[in-house]
Formats: sequence, C-alpha cells, structure tokens
Amino acid sequence: MPNRRQFLVAGLGLAAAPLLTRVATGAPPSDTAAPLGAKPISVRAYGATDATTPLGPLQIERRALGPHDVLIEILYCGVCHTDIHYARSEWGQSRYPCVPGHEIVGRVEAVGSAVTKFKVGDIAGVGCMVNSCGACENCLTGLEQYCLKGPTLTYNSPDPESGGHTFGGYSDKVVVTERFVIRIPPGADLPATAPLLCAAITTFSPMQHWTLTAGQRLGVIGLGGLGHMAVKLGVARKADVTVFTTSPGKLADAKRLGAREAVLWSDAAAMQRLAGQFDLLISTVPQAYPMQPFFDLLRLNGTLVNVGAMEQLQGIPGAGLARRRRSLAGSIIGGIAETQEVIDYCTARNIKADIELIRIEDINRAYERVNNKDVRYRFVIDMASLKAGEQAHA
Ligand SMILES: [Zn+2]
Ligand SMILES: [Zn+2]
Repeated sequence: MPNRRQFLVAGLGLAAAPLLTRVATGAPPSDTAAPLGAKPISVRAYGATDATTPLGPLQIERRALGPHDVLIEILYCGVCHTDIHYARSEWGQSRYPCVPGHEIVGRVEAVGSAVTKFKVGDIAGVGCMVNSCGACENCLTGLEQYCLKGPTLTYNSPDPESGGHTFGGYSDKVVVTERFVIRIPPGADLPATAPLLCAAITTFSPMQHWTLTAGQRLGVIGLGGLGHMAVKLGVARKADVTVFTTSPGKLADAKRLGAREAVLWSDAAAMQRLAGQFDLLISTVPQAYPMQPFFDLLRLNGTLVNVGAMEQLQGIPGAGLARRRRSLAGSIIGGIAETQEVIDYCTARNIKADIELIRIEDINRAYERVNNKDVRYRFVIDMASLKAGEQAHA
C-alpha cells in the first residue's frame, strides 16, 4: 500500500522530486535565513495535473516580494464552481498544473518595502483577480475586471510576473500586489467571509449597476453558492426576492434565507402568475439552459443579468425582449473598490455565506457534491489541513 507521497509521485509520473513549477527568473526556492519573501519560496498546494486525474498535493513557487507585494498565509479558501470548470478544462484547455481557488482569506506574513495598506498580522482577502494593467479606461474607473488588456486572474491566467501561469488559493501562501488585496474587517467570521470574495461580489455588482432598490422585485435563478448570496444581498436591500430553483429540496431553504417566494422552474402555473413582475433577474446557473421562460417574467425595462453561464446562451426571444424593452445583460465579479465595499457591507450587517468547512483531502468529493448540487451552500477549505496532511506524511 503506497503512502500518500508515493501515490502523489506516481500520479504525477515523476521519479522522486515533488513537482515544482519554477518562475521565469529561475531563482531557486529559499531555504536559507533570508527574510521571508526576499526570495521565491516553494509552498504546498493542491491541484489538478490534467483534466481527469483527482486533485492531489503538489509544490508550487511563489515569487519573491516586490516593493508593492504582500505575502499572505492562506487560512481559508472557498470552493467555487468555476474551480471545477478550470480544473476539468470545461471552459477550454486549462493550464496545468491547475491550482484553483479565488475566495482566499489569510493573514499577512510579510510585506514589500513600499506597501502602505497592510502590515504583518493583518487579515486580508484575495478574490478572482490579482492584477490588471492599471492604466486603461476601465482600470482607471475601478472596473479592473473589465481591463482592456484582460485582468490577471487569480489562477490559470498567464502571469506576466513569472512568465508562467497563476496559482490560486488551494495553497499555503500567495503573493499578490497590494492593490488587489482586500482588507477583512476585524471581527469577520473568516471561513464564512471567504466566499464573499467571489459569490457575493458577483451578485452585488449587478444589484449596484442596475440600482436594485427597496420594494423592487428581484428574481434569483439557481440557488447555489452565488444564488444564496444573491438572496441575502437582495433581502438586505429590502428588495422583494423570489428564488427559481430546479430542486424541490431547496424551496424551504430559499425562504429561510429570506426570499418571499420560491418557485420550481417546472411549475408552469407559478411561472405564468409571475409574468411581467420582475425588475431584475440574476441568473446564477453555472451552465447554459433554455432561458426563454424567464424573459416573460420581466416587466417593462426589466433586465436579466447572466453571471453564471459562460458558454453560448440558449432561448433568447427577440420579440419577448423587444415588446417590453427588456434587456439581457452579463456581468462578471466586480472591481477591487467594489469588492472592498461588499466585504465591508456584509461584515457590518453580519451577512455571510452558509458554509461547510472541509479538509483539503476532501476536495475531490466536494467537487462531486457541487456537481450533484449537494452543497448548502459553499464548501470552504480549512487550509490548516494542507499543513497537517504534509506533516503526517513527511
Ligand atoms: Zn468564483
Ligand atoms: Zn486595464
């Protein structure tokens, strides 16, 4: 019976050495007495080496701290459906090894010489982006997610800093430029705050842009990680929230989360009764589905915003949109200032994700459960388990 390390090595097709992805600078990882962050460091991570092999432990390298960089010891990382899409190359060929994770909360362990926003010991967050050009018209207006040169995503993105690709939060530590690091206010429930960095900002941003106000009707399509945050955020704005789900088992949950009504997609009578009622619909379903019935729910000037499916959308009715000047829109995460805003907003109101805390070695089972819609409503990895696993098998 091979131990975990032997299994890992066999699984990676390597003879002996742990997998190490070196940055283009070629400097070896530090094991000397130099200050932490002065040299690139090799850190533990968990990821996929191809589209089908289960995720397993591996070693990655984090760059030496530049003047504006922050080194964060990762405490918790949320598990987003996007992680699965990338780990499994479901959105096109991914870059491997793929270390997912873009809902990161941790403790600042070292800072670069010019860092002003953070000091060692601060609690910090990293969401879906770790850099952008900073100079285009979108970056200059705080919309880094729409950077005209493309933001550097937290994982699986070409990394101009290293010449390789970025590695996410299923990892011991991460180095990020301070402009893309979010302050986590004192008193925040850290594991339940991590998912806000993707799931909350992704649904908060369209509510801000389409100015969802008290008393307006919000429909949330799909009740998963994003959907459950959309309900909580909509309720916080005193909107009148309805959830549309395919899971009978989630109807009661939707109301517990604060929705006034919860409807099964298959309930034709309810769909008919609700026609023409909604100011804003946010579709959080992570894949394409026939959308036609939902456009009928929009009132004059109503908007359906897709934040979930990234492939070709299905069932978009020309006349159904035109007749009531309805809009179909898309939105992706939010800018850094807006991400800070949603973190502050949620902490002040004690809004957090409903989570199930898992150990890193449970990640493959967690992916299966997400795919089976069997999570209420976000898995969060306790990153202490990554250290514990390594020590147990050292
Ligand atoms: Zn996400
Ligand atoms: Zn830009």
